[in-house]
Amino acid sequence: MDAPTANSAPLPVTLSGLELTGRASTHVREVPELRCLLHPQAAAALQAMRAAAAHAGIDLVPVSGFRDFARQLAIWNDKFSGARPLLDRAGAPLAADALDEAGRVAAILLWSALPGASRHHWGSDCDLIDRAALSAGAAVELLGRHYGAEGCYAVLAAWLQRHAHDDGFFLPYDVDRGGVQPEPWHYSFAPVAVPAQAALRPELLRAVLAESALLGWGSVSAELPRIFERYVSAVARAPPAALAAAALNRAARPA
Ligand SMILES: [Zn+2]
Repeated sequence: MDAPTANSAPLPVTLSGLELTGRASTHVREVPELRCLLHPQAAAALQAMRAAAAHAGIDLVPVSGFRDFARQLAIWNDKFSGARPLLDRAGAPLAADALDEAGRVAAILLWSALPGASRHHWGSDCDLIDRAALSAGAAVELLGRHYGAEGCYAVLAAWLQRHAHDDGFFLPYDVDRGGVQPEPWHYSFAPVAVPAQAALRPELLRAVLAESALLGWGSVSAELPRIFERYVSAVARAPPAALAAAALNRAARPA
């Protein structure tokens, strides 16, 4: 699909229930040059943003784009069972077996979405790094301190804060709203993410999870309305600039 142009504003993006909850990948395509799967509109915008960032000496690349339900379920269940590290609010390790079921669920939700409720299911969201700032052989770490003033991605973070809106992207987890911790690496493409968020309802999520192999489902089920409010709904609103900019092809705008 071509990028939207100034003459043809993009149609509103509508995802099916299967697509919204990561159980289908019909709304995404592989972007070989970015090595990830994204919605075509988000992919075109990310490539435009990558080209703009290159002028500032930044090698902007996604380290994660679309993620499906099965993958998110594996991450969740590994954290619940202790097979994958469980972290507290400060990022320090927690022992899963020292926590009851509700405690584990609360700890997982600080850093991982419920399967079916991850913004990565929509193909609109990606985790961004500056590959030029990564030392040779170093592992990619998505940690807040790397995106702070003293961090290796400080230049990237400042550039994104200034320019991401130009291509329709914004930070949904910008500050701590009592749910998901701030994620300065996680950007959402507003024209796809905003309608997706509006379409994802708690009832759909409940139906999907009830028939899944989610560990801790008893605790999640009892608390689902609160969890949905706190960890799915409580995000930054897409700034009008991000929605407006995305209606225009970067090439059609003044430099
Ligand atoms: Zn992310």
